[in-house]
Amino acid sequence: MRYFDLHCDTLYKVLTESRDFTDPRLHITFSDPLQFEAWTQCFAIWIPDDISLQQSWQLFTRSAELFKNKLPRFGFGLNNHNSKHNALFCVEGGRIIGNDIDKISQLVTYGVKMLTLTWNGDNAIACGALTTCDTGLTSFGRQVIRELELNNIIVDVSHLSDNSFFDVAAQAHRPFIASHSNSRSVCSNKRNLTDEQFDIIKNNNGLVGLNFHGKFLRSDGSASIDDIITHCEHFLSLGGENTVAIGSDFDGADMPHDISGISTIPQIYEQFLKLNYSETLLDKLFYLNAANFYETFDNRDVLL
Ligand SMILES: [Zn+2]
Repeated sequence: MRYFDLHCDTLYKVLTESRDFTDPRLHITFSDPLQFEAWTQCFAIWIPDDISLQQSWQLFTRSAELFKNKLPRFGFGLNNHNSKHNALFCVEGGRIIGNDIDKISQLVTYGVKMLTLTWNGDNAIACGALTTCDTGLTSFGRQVIRELELNNIIVDVSHLSDNSFFDVAAQAHRPFIASHSNSRSVCSNKRNLTDEQFDIIKNNNGLVGLNFHGKFLRSDGSASIDDIITHCEHFLSLGGENTVAIGSDFDGADMPHDISGISTIPQIYEQFLKLNYSETLLDKLFYLNAANFYETFDNRDVLL
């Protein structure tokens, strides 16, 4: 099978807990041989809301070094579609740029492919999902979106508050992604997308990555692989065949009892197969939708 994962926090964990990428306690571990016919993994560096701008920039540059120096040793091409195993460098938290629009050109220099505009709190760009005063996107945030789009950095709306989401949708000229967000109709949680939000992303040729975090799958905390399928089926019922992808949140979330990490992905695929999903559809969900998005995004002329 082929696999494309829009979000994991492995880079943050390796960096801040001084682990090695082969540590078997990681969800994404390279202690076993790589097992996919093709595999693209987005590696996000998480920028916590409560650290200083200076600390966040240091975290970012150190993670960029780690990404560049270590991942090729495990067979990854960096930002390379033609590589069998491809790693994409992403940032989870627009706080990294502070209120300095020129920082975006530095993100480009470091090879950042996608920026999650907020984490759960507010920053200079927008309000996050757990905001106490949802004032949406700021005027600086509007500039940021334009600048990201001009520089081929994908806008990630996971973690945004509702007003921020709708403001971004009104502002965006290019398709955007919710890299790791489930359905709020299935599991009521502010981190999940309403049907209206899903529809907007779908109609704008974007992507939504299914998140495996237990509490985003099922509010009573007893989530399993079946719940991933339930969220997926709901999105498919909204016409999401070309929109749904995977955004595991590995190494940044509490997994359901029947998922131990990247090694469980083939079992999740099998469980869908048993429900008579065609391999063509499954390949779209597990790989092709995301692969197509990235390829088209990179090759598109930017006319804003
Ligand atoms: Zn997240």
